[in-house]
Amino acid sequence: MERIDKENYYLDIAATVLERSTCMRRFYGAIIVQHDEIVSTGYNGAPRGRKNCLDLGYCTREAMKIPSGERYELCRSVHAEANAIISAARSEVLGATLYMVCKDPKTKQLIPHSTSCSMCRRLIINAGIRRVVIRDTDTRYRVVDVVKDWVEQDDSLPRQV
Ligand SMILES: [Zn+2]
Ligand SMILES: [Zn+2]
Repeated sequence: MERIDKENYYLDIAATVLERSTCMRRFYGAIIVQHDEIVSTGYNGAPRGRKNCLDLGYCTREAMKIPSGERYELCRSVHAEANAIISAARSEVLGATLYMVCKDPKTKQLIPHSTSCSMCRRLIINAGIRRVVIRDTDTRYRVVDVVKDWVEQDDSLPRQV
């Protein structure tokens, strides 16, 4: 029997965290790992005490057919990455790795090429997280080098021509 590699082990745990997500458009699960220890977990859902998309029976961005990546101000959720970051101490996230899984709530299938939104990227950068590992299939994943991929390639600046 082949032993599961460490990255997929943590991604499997993030996929379990995702099961608690309450948005009807997307399920996200994230965990933060530092020195081989899980320091926090997060999934996307409405702020504590507010009604979730699942309670309301609709998701505004989904109902308005907003394309992926646009109009996040309409999203009522605190995103998985943000929830994981606010649940940990700064010392626990500095240099850490964030593992993330995204699924379609209807089909329960993985969403390939999913990534963090531009607001979460900013949080991840300032939290000092070094790597983001995102699942594409049950065994394959992408590794984001936060400084190289999100700081040096700044998606909030106009595209260079
Ligand atoms: Zn929603
Ligand atoms: Zn986000």
